[in-house]
Amino acid sequence: MDATELTKLLQGGGSPDDLKKQLLQNLIAQQQAEPKKQDDTELRQCQARLRASRRRNRSLAAALGACVCFGDPRCRQCGGEGQPGTRAPEPDAFAFYVEPVLRQLGLLVDDELVPNQEG
Ligand SMILES: [Zn+2]
Repeated sequence: MDATELTKLLQGGGSPDDLKKQLLQNLIAQQQAEPKKQDDTELRQCQARLRASRRRNRSLAAALGACVCFGDPRCRQCGGEGQPGTRAPEPDAFAFYVEPVLRQLGLLVDDELVPNQEG
């Protein structure tokens, strides 16, 4: 019940008992509606987090040259053959996720891969 509806109710000239009854019914209806609103908000927040996680998973899989399942044998897209390194990595995602790690490990200096000692 908003302020306009409340004003109208108070000016309606009903008996105090009718007024109490209507206010009580509105209060109960409002309390029953609030948990649903909160549930909807939580559901939307969970859906947004899930979408963000899926985007990040796709991006990381692309960086590693993997299927989004990372080789799960139940995957319908790759049948479990999509482990990291089985596809060409997506260059921007590789630069974002993998190059900093290679640099940290001393395997990438000035954007050039450090040749391994075996050849
Ligand atoms: Zn897959």
